[in-house]
Amino acid sequence: MADIIRLLPDHVANQIAAGEVVQRPASVVKELLENAIDAGASVIQLVLKDAGRTLIQVTDNGTGMSETDARLSFERHATSKIGSAEDLFSIHTLGFRGEALASIASVAQVEVRTRRQSDELGIAILIEGSRFISQTPVNIAPGTTFAIKNLFFNIPARRNFLKNDAVEMRHCIEEFERVVLVHPQIEFSLEHNGKVVFHLPVSSLRHRVVNVFGAALHPRLVPIEQESDIVSVSGFIGKPEFARKTRGEQYFFVNDRYVKMPYLAHAVESAYQELIPEKSYPSYFIYLQVDPASLDVNIHPTKTEVKMIDEGHIYAILKATVRKSLGEFNLMPSLDFDREAIFDIPEPDPDNPPSQPAIRVNPEYNPFTNPNPGQSPSPMTGFSGRTSPAGWEKLFPSRDFERLPNDLPPAGDLLPSEPVVENKVYFSEGSEKPFVQLMGRYLLTTLRNGLLLVDQQRAHERILYERFLSQLQGSQSSSQQLLFPLTFYFQPSDAELLKSLMPELRKIGFDIESAGQNNFAVNGLPAGFRENDAGELLEQLVSDLRQSQGANPESHLIEMAAALARNQAVRNGTLFSAEEIKNIFDSLFACNVPHVSPDGRLTLKMLNADDLDKLLK
Ligand code: ADP
Ligand code: MG
Repeated sequence: MADIIRLLPDHVANQIAAGEVVQRPASVVKELLENAIDAGASVIQLVLKDAGRTLIQVTDNGTGMSETDARLSFERHATSKIGSAEDLFSIHTLGFRGEALASIASVAQVEVRTRRQSDELGIAILIEGSRFISQTPVNIAPGTTFAIKNLFFNIPARRNFLKNDAVEMRHCIEEFERVVLVHPQIEFSLEHNGKVVFHLPVSSLRHRVVNVFGAALHPRLVPIEQESDIVSVSGFIGKPEFARKTRGEQYFFVNDRYVKMPYLAHAVESAYQELIPEKSYPSYFIYLQVDPASLDVNIHPTKTEVKMIDEGHIYAILKATVRKSLGEFNLMPSLDFDREAIFDIPEPDPDNPPSQPAIRVNPEYNPFTNPNPGQSPSPMTGFSGRTSPAGWEKLFPSRDFERLPNDLPPAGDLLPSEPVVENKVYFSEGSEKPFVQLMGRYLLTTLRNGLLLVDQQRAHERILYERFLSQLQGSQSSSQQLLFPLTFYFQPSDAELLKSLMPELRKIGFDIESAGQNNFAVNGLPAGFRENDAGELLEQLVSDLRQSQGANPESHLIEMAAALARNQAVRNGTLFSAEEIKNIFDSLFACNVPHVSPDGRLTLKMLNADDLDKLLK
């Protein structure tokens, strides 16, 4: 058989943007998997040690290489795939730059073992940091194994730059997923430190998706299909009711390569408009085939972005296709517009006009009388009890204006008549301060020379944030054991991340352990956390931390505390008792930085006489 690798002509080489091919183990995973696919393999095994730091090994049963090709494959711009510059623009094969192996071999110890079907013996070649070390004949099955050991062994700075294993592994898994999702006709496996992470048999595309992301996805997928002159669309979209709080499973593949397409993502999301709540995201796995000539190929090796000439048309086609599928599968509620418009608002009764809401005042009221001497409010333990404790009325008599006799004169036209979400005004015993909750959002009290206004949600975030942060930096907190453990499935890359968070989660009182196959069991929760929220909380946490991954450990804890606080803080509209309001004030002023929320918004405003003066000018 003839040697098939040609050296890329210089003028072509120059057209190829030089770039860093190898940034981290995941980049190597990607290149090796793509090469194995290009070699026509039907079974591909990926083996990793220490998230690819120590070993990245890909074995395929593809064409194999001749001795010359095996040696040439490490030359820069050695490729069997391009003969001219035009070829660059009609690429169907995956790798096309002829520099991946050369780059990889310059920063690692590489062993390739390869044999063509037609050869009796294979060959093993060792290369270290671009230096040829040895070549020996080997007796192996047809196909190729690339073993990349000790990545960046000769560039300590790059090696140190790598993130922790959980992060690097997540990147590797992401690359693996992006490849396996386009090749259900190929059997793949992934093993990490001796454990099987994935074994994906040859299957339909639908089953491939399900095998990667979990059986729960199966009933949630709806197929999409559309042929047109400029694009053919296929794949699966998620039913609206399973939209997630995070942008998790959203994949575009163009001509069998994973790409990021924010513009087209918008088309899909807009097709779901009104079918899913705000801030939730549909899952989708969408495969587009277009004429390669219509792709503006960006040859930068690490980019996953492409531009398409017909993007505007494709946007419209895609949106219509998704819409159509949602309709066909009866996922679109049939809107009855006549009825919609009316919304069951009762006709006004001309004989009985609605009265103006008005504030009534009890002239009898005296804040200093105390019907229960000696009884003082019980200390609050936290804000987890979000309803007023029973009997608070007795502690704080006749604060509730609603209950005052009806025959008092209205306060007059000067007062605003806007309906109010329920204001609460309390006077606590032994204190001259009123505690007021306005519109279920703002807390108010008087200061010696002014007013204090607090945003309840932001304040609570600040309080919880500082509490979580000190727990995360301290020793383990106790947890409330659950009667029945909860189990949650996470997709593999998220599962890796969650695993890495487990020590910290335990510190704040999550009794969590991995339960195999990307499942997690939660046996106990921090005191005050609700069982029903646990799943969403973990999901939210993983999604928030995905962004900040790999930052220094300190900011990692900060992110985590902020995410937990965001999740657990009371929402606007939560009504408080006087004790709770007082407790929020006390806790807020016990904080190190009371006046801003963890994300930097104001939690409070003090208004003194000057401020009030200005307001009234
Ligand atoms: P490219 O894939 O862009 O051509 P690479 O540096 O990734 O460049 O690979 C160089 C060449 O080595 C390929 O063109 C191919 O001929 C050969 N090669 C790499 N991996 C394999 C493999 N697993 N099986 C057979 N040939 C391979
Ligand atoms: Mg390649």
